[in-house]
Amino acid sequence: MKTAIYPGSFDPVTNGHLNIIERASSIFDRLIVCVMTNAQKHPMFTAEERVDLIRRVTGHLPNVEVLYSGKLLADFARERGCTTIVKGLRAVSDFEREFQMALINHKLNPGLDTMFLTAEHQFMYLSSSAVKEMARYDADISDFLPSQIIPDFKARISEQI
Ligand code: ADP
Repeated sequence: MKTAIYPGSFDPVTNGHLNIIERASSIFDRLIVCVMTNAQKHPMFTAEERVDLIRRVTGHLPNVEVLYSGKLLADFARERGCTTIVKGLRAVSDFEREFQMALINHKLNPGLDTMFLTAEHQFMYLSSSAVKEMARYDADISDFLPSQIIPDFKARISEQI
């Protein structure tokens, strides 16, 4: 059984993330979506909330499991029996950092390879931070986030304005 892991901040999960999850879940037997902490980001949602939001939008994908990890990705992947990291690439600017991370993760865990899926063209410009920025100016975000989580997102934005 081939298990892949898709790590990220997912603050919150966007239609771009969901597109990668759907495509990766059809390639692998099992996909773990892993919510991670990023010391450089101040998240809008707690890790538990982000896990819950992703679970709500992936309920139609029986081979997808959503977990939080505060550990090193290479170690968490080993513990969970994952042999592939899945990453989404939006533009060349994503590539340099992702290339470096792929090499580091392989060095730390030689049983782990990284596979890149290119973003679908309609999601190439989409990031969680861009959606947050648009929402603060009350722009229509219905094309960017899964509809099930828009009320949670709008409620959080209005608390923070
Ligand atoms: P961001 O905060 O920029 O959305 P994340 O850390 O949540 O980033 O992203 C997790 C993974 O998802 C990364 O591999 C990132 O490149 C990928 N990703 C994010 N947005 C998209 C998108 N619109 N299309 C494809 N991949 C994406």
